[in-house]
Amino acid sequence: VTDWQGKNVTVAGLGVSGIPAAKVLHGLGAKVTVVNDGDDARAREQAAELEALGVTVRLGDGATLPEGTELIVTAPGWKPDKPLFTAAHEAGVPVWGDVELAWRLRELDGRKAAPWLCVTGTNGKTTTTQMLASILKAAGLRTAAVGNIGVSLLDAVLGEEPYDVLAVELSSYQLHWAPSLRAHSATVLNLAPDHLDWHGSMEAYAKDKGRVYEGNQVACVYNVADKATEDLVREADVEEGCRAIGFTLAAPAPSQLGVVDGILVDRAFVENRQQNAQELAEVSDVNPPAPHNIANALAAAALARAFGVPAKAVRDGLRAFTPDAHRIAHVADVDGVAYIDDSKATNTHAAEASLAAYESIVWIAGGLAKGATFDELVAKSAKRLRAAVLIGADRALIREALARHAPKVPVVDLERTDTGAMLAAVQEARRLAVEGDTVLLAPACASMDMFVNYNQRGDMFAQAVGELGT
Ligand code: ADP
Repeated sequence: VTDWQGKNVTVAGLGVSGIPAAKVLHGLGAKVTVVNDGDDARAREQAAELEALGVTVRLGDGATLPEGTELIVTAPGWKPDKPLFTAAHEAGVPVWGDVELAWRLRELDGRKAAPWLCVTGTNGKTTTTQMLASILKAAGLRTAAVGNIGVSLLDAVLGEEPYDVLAVELSSYQLHWAPSLRAHSATVLNLAPDHLDWHGSMEAYAKDKGRVYEGNQVACVYNVADKATEDLVREADVEEGCRAIGFTLAAPAPSQLGVVDGILVDRAFVENRQQNAQELAEVSDVNPPAPHNIANALAAAALARAFGVPAKAVRDGLRAFTPDAHRIAHVADVDGVAYIDDSKATNTHAAEASLAAYESIVWIAGGLAKGATFDELVAKSAKRLRAAVLIGADRALIREALARHAPKVPVVDLERTDTGAMLAAVQEARRLAVEGDTVLLAPACASMDMFVNYNQRGDMFAQAVGELGT
């Protein structure tokens, strides 16, 4: 689409992506109709603002395809099986998500588009994208972490700020609705069941994640330890000369990045032809140096190296990086016991990674399971557990898995789902921990049964730890 004048565009969903999309499209001369399921006070306020600009808004009806629609731009979270999309499909109307829209507009009015380095995966997306942005900045490049975090892609693409390259975090939903996106290079960090209710099946979820590799120009970066990610690379249709680059916590083979004697090593993009490997950074440059996070750092390094960033910038960028709150954050040491907040471990795959980073753990877990099972997580982590303290709506599922796979581990089920239960959980954990242990909040569950979000859950944990000393 190059001529937007008078084009009938339906924007599906008011909200963080819908409102800016409607404004931009209206500004381009399109005839915009926003459809929205909800019809509450907030929606009416937002609708009034758009209507004042000349945008049509239909509240309380997100199912019917407006007459004459030539294109739908949807909020990424809208499920593909909605009647609106069935109708669009039957009428031959294309559907774009927020990412697709930004991709299509990136060269609007002769703009020079910055290449995209894209990051997706079940866990570690935000961390890896931020590490990548930090490395690119250390190389003196003008960049930002955008997409599913921070700045929206539409703002990054159309804003005043000039970029050399973008570090783009993409969710599986966003990828589903981004059929023509073509990255410079991209990675799928890992694949574990998540959001299956939305995608319909593990196959469909993997397929949507795999879209990030489609049309890659320089490198498809995969996780050697997660074969499913390598399979996605093999299935992708890429530009000629695009390379498959693996990352591994072991010593790297050629065309891989990995770890040798505590050093992150690159055997894919070697600068000096006399050498067969390039040292990038030390494991201790990675914050925190937990195994899963070293994997994140290697993935970020691989994307940066694919873009031509020198080894020194990888080290400087990793050193300059500090993780966001509630991601394996060290809260305090009390009586020789470390208290770690990984409230962001909202699924079993994430919790497994953080449990693998410690030896003798008093584990605080529980919340909303979102259909997950806990057997594999508990079986893999059992030998590291000193004890477990359970809270939240679905705690029985974890209790039963512990009984099956870790029968000797003491379990305290607080039988509580109120916000204040976190204080009791921390006090209980303190009683169970001995010097040298780690008390780890890695709930393996969503937080909304007890807390506003994972941030509040982590804050309550930190507050409870703060009160231990007093
Ligand atoms: P996302 O943006 O994909 O949700 P984050 O970077 O915010 O990922 O990390 C979320 C949580 O996932 C972390 O708190 C940690 O528990 C876990 N995690 C991070 N990186 C990985 C990884 N590579 N593999 C498994 N789990 C991870």
